[in-house]
Amino acid sequence: MLFDLSKSWIAIDCPNCGYSLDIQVRDVKLEETVICNNCKTNIHLQDADASAHNSVRDINKGMSDLDDLLKSF
Ligand SMILES: [Zn+2]
Repeated sequence: MLFDLSKSWIAIDCPNCGYSLDIQVRDVKLEETVICNNCKTNIHLQDADASAHNSVRDINKGMSDLDDLLKSF
C-alpha cells in the first residue's frame, strides 16, 4: 500500500444543517462523534453510512488499477 486508506479524507453533509464536513475514513470506522463546524451539532458517524463505503470502494478500485499498472512493468 502506498498510503493508509483510513487516513483518507471524505466529505459528509451535516444531517442538521447540510454543512459539508471533511472527516477521515478512520473516524467512520471507529464510529467517532464529530461536531459540525456550522451548527455545533454532534454527529455520530456510523460505519453503515453508504457514502463512506462507496468512497472507500472507489479508492480501492483506484488502488487495484494502480497495482495492475505496476505489475505490467
Ligand atoms: Zn450542522
